[in-house]
Amino acid sequence: MLLKTLREEVLDANLELVRRGLVLYTFGNASGIDRAEGLVAIKPSGVPYPELTPAHMVISDLTGKIVEGNLRPSSDLATHLELYKQFSNTGGVAHTHSEFATAWAQAETPIPCFGTTHADYFHGPVPVTERLKSEEIERDYEQETGNAICRTFSRLDPDAVPAILVAGHAPFCWGKNAAEAAHNAVILEYVARMAYHTLLINAESQPLSRELRDKHFLRKHGRNAYYGQVKS
Ligand SMILES: [Zn+2]
Repeated sequence: MLLKTLREEVLDANLELVRRGLVLYTFGNASGIDRAEGLVAIKPSGVPYPELTPAHMVISDLTGKIVEGNLRPSSDLATHLELYKQFSNTGGVAHTHSEFATAWAQAETPIPCFGTTHADYFHGPVPVTERLKSEEIERDYEQETGNAICRTFSRLDPDAVPAILVAGHAPFCWGKNAAEAAHNAVILEYVARMAYHTLLINAESQPLSRELRDKHFLRKHGRNAYYGQVKS
C-alpha cells in the first residue's frame, strides 16, 4: 500500500472534522500531499465516516489520475489539486459545510477580524470568492472552484490566511499538513460563530486595530514568532 503514513494522517484529519461536529453524514473531505512523490491522499466519495480505514483513502497524482484505490475519490478532488498546485507551502486541505462558516459563505460576506482569536490564525478578514460564471460551472466545476479560490489569493498570502469562503458554497481551509488543515477548519467555524454573535450584540462592531491584529498573528507565525515552546 502506497503512502501508509499519509493515509493515516488524512484519515485522522477527516475524523477530526467529525469529532468537532463540522460534518453531517458524508459531507466534507480532507486530503494531504506527499510533495516528494507528487501524490495526494484524499477521502473517498460517499463512504460513511465510521467505516473509513487508511486503505479506503484514494491516492491521486496532481493531474487527478488515480494511482491507487478502488473507490472514487471525493468529488472535490480537483479543487484540492488546484490548491496544491498553486499554493506551494500547502500540505493539507480540508473542506466542510460547517454551519457558521457556510452561512458567511452563503451571505458572500468576508469574516472580519473582530478579535485576537481570529488574528491568532488568520491575518486579516477571511475572504470570499467571486461567484463562478455559468460556463465555469458547466466546464469543470471543481477545478474552477479551485481557480476562483486562487484568484482571490492573487493579492493575499495563503500562508497568512489559510482559509476561504467559496461564494454560495462553503469554506476550504489548508495548512502545512492534513491535521493543520482540519485544525484550521475547526478554528474557522469557531471564529465564524463568534463574528456572527459579535454583530448580533453590536451591528457596528469594528475590526481589531492593525497593531493588535499584527501582534497576535506575528507572535505565533513567521520568523519572529515567540508563542508556545521552542521546538527541539
Ligand atoms: Zn462542498
